[in-house]
Amino acid sequence: MATVKGDVHDIGKNIVGVVLACNNYEIIDLGVMVPTNTIIDAAIEHQVDIIGLSGLITPSLDEMVNIAAEMERRSLSIPILIGGATTSRMHTAVKVAPEYSGPVVHVLDASRSVPVAGQLIGLKTKDTFTAQIRKEYTELAIQHAARQSEKTILSYMDAKANRISIDWENYTPPQPKKQGIEVLADFDLGTLRDYIDWTPFFSTWQLKGKYPLIFEDAYVGNEAKKLFKDAQHMLDQLITKKLLTANGIVGIFEAYEENGDITLPQENFTFHCLRQQRKMGTHIPNLSLADFIAPKTISQKDYLGAFAVTTGVGIEKIVAEYEKDHDDYNAILVKAIADRLAEAFAEYLHQYVRKKMWGYSPNEVLNNDLLIREKYRGIRPAPGYPACPDHSEKAKLWKLLDIENQTGISLTESYAMYPTAAVSGFYFSHPESRYFAVGKIGEDQLIDYAKRKSVDYTIAKKWLGPNLF
Ligand code: SAH
Repeated sequence: MATVKGDVHDIGKNIVGVVLACNNYEIIDLGVMVPTNTIIDAAIEHQVDIIGLSGLITPSLDEMVNIAAEMERRSLSIPILIGGATTSRMHTAVKVAPEYSGPVVHVLDASRSVPVAGQLIGLKTKDTFTAQIRKEYTELAIQHAARQSEKTILSYMDAKANRISIDWENYTPPQPKKQGIEVLADFDLGTLRDYIDWTPFFSTWQLKGKYPLIFEDAYVGNEAKKLFKDAQHMLDQLITKKLLTANGIVGIFEAYEENGDITLPQENFTFHCLRQQRKMGTHIPNLSLADFIAPKTISQKDYLGAFAVTTGVGIEKIVAEYEKDHDDYNAILVKAIADRLAEAFAEYLHQYVRKKMWGYSPNEVLNNDLLIREKYRGIRPAPGYPACPDHSEKAKLWKLLDIENQTGISLTESYAMYPTAAVSGFYFSHPESRYFAVGKIGEDQLIDYAKRKSVDYTIAKKWLGPNLF
């Protein structure tokens, strides 16, 4: 098993490893950021029965396609399991499986990995199972192709014409109380604890249900209670012994929209935006994040915020200690908690910006439920996520805020953040700003986007692959 090149996320992979190991499988775990040939050579050397590939960010999808193609080139037939947050049965069927004549199976979660692995290697089951999966995936790919030709993608020009109409002439953008950059070094973990959203913590462990109702669940309630108790104990340790360091940085800058992008004139920085291009229903606009910033032609000054936070500085040491003791459970637990703390830090910092630094909602009061559902004014879209799916936009963000030096968060070649317990993004203050998914875009927009970004078309295509598929 390996997390593919350019990607550093391994909680899911590690859980699959533990689950399979508990079912008598021997696991050779190659870790994270593993190049294609390292994976293939190790598989041959150890004569493995199955190769498991994991990844969280969208560039990893392409990496998996490359591995399948390389395995085909090397005439291998070892089955491949595909897993991780951005992977899907559809992507596996449409993009990965056609590259490889051996078996390729997408596994939705760790618990599914056991029966799938069993069927893939069982002498009595492997042929029928492989044939059945192949048939299923071929049908999926055919359906996908049919649906693609049915889906109407507008011309980029028409999509732009159907932008959201914001009455900028009668709007006053809020002026930040404090402009420029602020660094939050070694931030108090105890403060962040209150901002944790626990529901995703349980789903990391594949316990489905909303916190705190999950404790009453007939099926997973007891396990959820035990896990939560362990998590609280771990948090106590992390906080009192200061085992993890939290670092953050935030800036608010003058900004305007021009040519579909957002420019910060004083920083010589442009955030390139993508617009939804599918045909929408009546009165539904084709959104782009750029629409939420005042155009250059407006006399009033508007602003854009930018931030990065991590709570994972120092985590390697803790994980290494647990792994030395073969304590997989706590090694995974500390990572899962660090991830929650990072999102909590993002939530805290966003609130600080709204109430104090930008200060456009000084009296905002949210009850806990609303906080989680982000029902406040403004958004913090993260590059690589659905509203701005191009991970490579992070490179400029890193320069703008000098993020690596200021916080210790670095970027891999696929723009995954390391430590993984990290969140970065932009702040929008407009009351109409909202999250959305850019979704599928057309060739015409891709060409225009590449030109605006001054990158080669093939480079733009590389980072936006999943939006074209
Ligand atoms: N650790 C992760 C970062 C999580 S990003 C990583 O390594 O990539 C999660 C953030 O994405 C949330 O804080 C949320 O503010 C943001 N987000 C949620 N929906 C979004 C959307 N549709 N478009 C862009 N960003 C979104």
